[in-house]
Amino acid sequence: MHKNIDGKLLAKEILEDVSSDVADLVTAGWQPKLVAIVIGDSAPVALYVRNQRRSSEKAGIEFEERSFAGESTEDEVLATIATMNADPRITGIILQRPVPDHMNIRRLQSAVHPLKDVEGMHPASIGDIVYNDIRLGPCTAMASVELLKQTGLDLEGLEVTVIGHSEIVGKPIAFLLMAEGATVTVCHHMTRNLSVHSRRSDAVFIAVGKPSLITGDMIKPGAAVIDIGINQITDGDGNTKVVGDADFESCQRTAGWITPVPGGVGPVTVAILMRNSVVAATRQKEHYEARFGTEIESVPTAKIAKTA
Ligand code: NAD
Repeated sequence: MHKNIDGKLLAKEILEDVSSDVADLVTAGWQPKLVAIVIGDSAPVALYVRNQRRSSEKAGIEFEERSFAGESTEDEVLATIATMNADPRITGIILQRPVPDHMNIRRLQSAVHPLKDVEGMHPASIGDIVYNDIRLGPCTAMASVELLKQTGLDLEGLEVTVIGHSEIVGKPIAFLLMAEGATVTVCHHMTRNLSVHSRRSDAVFIAVGKPSLITGDMIKPGAAVIDIGINQITDGDGNTKVVGDADFESCQRTAGWITPVPGGVGPVTVAILMRNSVVAATRQKEHYEARFGTEIESVPTAKIAKTA
């Protein structure tokens, strides 16, 4: 019998902890504040931002959207990021993806100060997870691993296959799993025979963007399936719906656990963004306290801005 892993429930639990941590930070004079940078118009981005705003407000985190026209220059966005880095009232910067083709996402992401990198996507944050420091990792990857932990499986020595090796999802999942002691195989579009790897694994993560890429016969009976894919499909009646990368019906017959799409990785990703926001704000608090002592209120804003 398979069991669905409930992403909404896990997200709710994470957000409860986040709310209590935010309340402590606010009492200590550190109101966390997120700013989301949105470049151009995109319906999926508008939806992400709405979800981020809702979760922030629920957790007591201030949230602001800073929008740029699609034809803005990279320099304009870089200048805004520099101002935000220097503003002690902003504790986290989110760069909404995708950005227009004429901008270099890596250059923009690298411009965010690592202490404000709530998405865990700055090269310094990615480097930390290679060193097994997994407090602030990329949100979707962290969410996926948290969902696997819900099964109660012991990650040490667990045989895991990760399908997809992008910088924001597949690769960080592999590093996070290695940090937890799992034995990890990473597959991608050049892998010769996916099922050879998936069928011998105790857990399979799928982050590709192809509906029904993995079917029940490609899964070891009783294994955990963590489905990260988001695909919009149109059924025979012309209705559109969102599905993952696993063929849910056949996989749920074979798997021991499976994450539904929607309702699996998605809500937990937003909750992890909120948790990262607390980690980032706490690090900034510690950073300033180490420099100026605990009497932060007495530090002139200009002095804080210069050292950010
Ligand atoms: P990407 O396009 O950057 O990477 C796709 C990966 O799939 C690559 O590593 C590629 O080598 C691999 N791949 C392609 N075809 C393959 C095949 N036939 N067999 C095996 N591997 C194959 O995508 P991404 O940004 O990593 O996103 C992957 C999926 O996850 C998408 O559906 C995306 O919408 C979804 N996603 C979900 C969340 C969330 O919060 N739930 C967040 C980010 C991305």
